[in-house]
Amino acid sequence: MSIEKAPLHFGADVSPRLKTAVSALRGVGPARVKALSKLGITTLGDFIRFYPRTYEDRTRLSPIAALVPGVSVCITAMVAAQPRLHRVRSGRDLVKVRVVDDSGSLDITFFNRAYVKNQLQPGNTYIFYGEVTGSAKRPEMINPIFEPADKPRATGRLVPVYPLSAGLNQTFMASCARSALDALGDTPKDPLPLDVLQTFQLASLRFALENIHFPTSAEALDIARRRLVFEELFIFSSALAYLRRGRKKAEGRALGEHNLEEFFSKLPFTLTNAQKRAISEATEDMRRGVPMSRLVQGDVGSGKTVVAAACCWYAWKSGCQSAFMAPTEILAAQHEKTLWHLLEPHGMRVALLTGSLPAKRKRTVLEQLQLGEVDVVVGTHALISEGVNFFDLSLVITDEQHRFGVGQRSALSRKGEHPHVLVMSATPIPRTLALILYGDLDISVIDELPPGRTPVETYAVDERMRERIYNFVRRLVSEGRQVYIVCPMVEESNTADLDLKSVKEYAEQLKNNVFPDLAVGLVHGKLRPGEKEAVMSAFASGELNILVATTVIEVGVDVPNATLMIIENADRFGLSQLHQLRGRVGRGQHQSYCVLFEGGGGEVARQRMKILTETNDGFKIAEEDLRLRGPGDFFGARQHGLPGLRIASLATDMSSLSLAQRAAHELIERDPMLSSPEHAGLRDAIENLMHTTADTLN
Ligand code: ADP
Ligand code: MG
Repeated sequence: MSIEKAPLHFGADVSPRLKTAVSALRGVGPARVKALSKLGITTLGDFIRFYPRTYEDRTRLSPIAALVPGVSVCITAMVAAQPRLHRVRSGRDLVKVRVVDDSGSLDITFFNRAYVKNQLQPGNTYIFYGEVTGSAKRPEMINPIFEPADKPRATGRLVPVYPLSAGLNQTFMASCARSALDALGDTPKDPLPLDVLQTFQLASLRFALENIHFPTSAEALDIARRRLVFEELFIFSSALAYLRRGRKKAEGRALGEHNLEEFFSKLPFTLTNAQKRAISEATEDMRRGVPMSRLVQGDVGSGKTVVAAACCWYAWKSGCQSAFMAPTEILAAQHEKTLWHLLEPHGMRVALLTGSLPAKRKRTVLEQLQLGEVDVVVGTHALISEGVNFFDLSLVITDEQHRFGVGQRSALSRKGEHPHVLVMSATPIPRTLALILYGDLDISVIDELPPGRTPVETYAVDERMRERIYNFVRRLVSEGRQVYIVCPMVEESNTADLDLKSVKEYAEQLKNNVFPDLAVGLVHGKLRPGEKEAVMSAFASGELNILVATTVIEVGVDVPNATLMIIENADRFGLSQLHQLRGRVGRGQHQSYCVLFEGGGGEVARQRMKILTETNDGFKIAEEDLRLRGPGDFFGARQHGLPGLRIASLATDMSSLSLAQRAAHELIERDPMLSSPEHAGLRDAIENLMHTTADTLN
């Protein structure tokens, strides 16, 4: 659950009126209740933190003589004559009215608003707001907003524009926000302590909330926004600092001290320094009496699996079991094989547990797990199902962090008693974002590839190269290699069906026209899991020469014989994602290649592609990606925004983030339990955040 959908609290001493369910508000029937709940609004109070998406500037006032077509402005003008109602043939009606000010006159037309005829009184002055149409010589306005000039409410100011869902409109949303603010009172409980407000010269909560909805001026809006952005980042940072402290206090299993050389001595290769560092950081964690909570971040192929294996070995030396969870059956099977090779020489017992295991085998594994006859179990989320019981689970490892919700991770943790937790992610992300995304995890970075890797040669090409690339495919296949062809398709988008159709057509065309003599397979996210795995295994076993794929292959499938990846319309992917995809090749002893078809994305796209041809360093690429596109795009459509951030943008508010982080850490140092009365508001806010973003935090 994201906080966007979550109700908001202002602490216990809040005006009871704010707790009114929206269904009790005037003009709100079942349809609107539903529409509002889609926006995460269930009570009147929820409107307070439902910030406008943007603002319409209705402050500009113009004399009629100076109107410019295409510009939206207000005019103050008197109705010159009785408005006239016309019926048009199509059954629609229109009202025409002439208005005048000191500088000239203007014809205004209202379509389908017959009631306007009786609202506008000749001789009275109104403010009209709308876009000027017509020509410079004969300007017009169509369907402007208007109100009596002596009581301006909707004009002469910045007007909020809220996110809507079907059945809602701006007027309604604004009036609800108004009622909510009125019910809020003058001194709502502020999550920001007074000294923080003073140090950073932030506006009061009341001022900020009032002006974020109904700014009295552009400056007031800036001040309000700055304060609310800071508040959000501060609460978030405080929550992380608070959690981290709490975790440091939890009882964890302190493992004994074991000489890792014993493990190293039986490895088929020498570890890189980065791997050794990660292993020593993790094992040190496990020796302390505090549950480990560590993220190991390293590029694809950087050798994270052996770090996991070392931790399993370490736990085993203290007589403990480990569980290793992977997002797919194929990956689980691969990991099981790898871990078995690394751990069996020590006499460790490694088993696989997935949903598709034959019932009898599954029963055996379950028994062995419970009796402590298996030391390491590798599996899919089958591991968290009921009936899986451990003898003594002390280490939980999950691979490919972003594929699991934190909920699943903690479900696995609950199978033991405060087990140590190791999370592995192949998505290099800039450190600032890691701090936000991975919350209170400690981070180890593997920033070094095992020696002897030949980097993937990457080329950005355009359509003119297509024939040559296809010939290159034939050549590699004739040498016994295999090829990926990746098509961009946002699996979750509404247009996925359409995209899927074109991917299917493309695969058909390759199969029938371009490579009729080769074995071409297609895998995409809409296949049933069984079908998907069948195609993937066919490719892994070499039955298929070419695999056309959407991004489902992104997850770490290992086919060392695949040495070429062609990516169509590469500019539609984020750089980090392209880099991730590229990591599927270059896993064997053969030189590998990645060909990016640019797909006509223009200069920026070309620049971005160029970065990939120049470096294989995932962190460098991530930094560049962030710089070029901002964090919103950085994570792509797949990633649900950042946890709990309604107003702060990591594209523009990074400097506030570091200020807020520093202030939060200082505060938690001073008052670790947030027990002092002036921190009560902050404590409430943190509790609320943790409650509503349980999936992200913890
Ligand atoms: P990751 O999970 O980080 O993408 P893997 O753990 O799958 O990477 O390792 C990729 C490949 O590199 C595996 O075949 C592994 O055996 C090999 N490998 C790992 N560490 C080393 C090393 N220090 N020296 C040589 N090969 C290594
Ligand atoms: Mg891996």
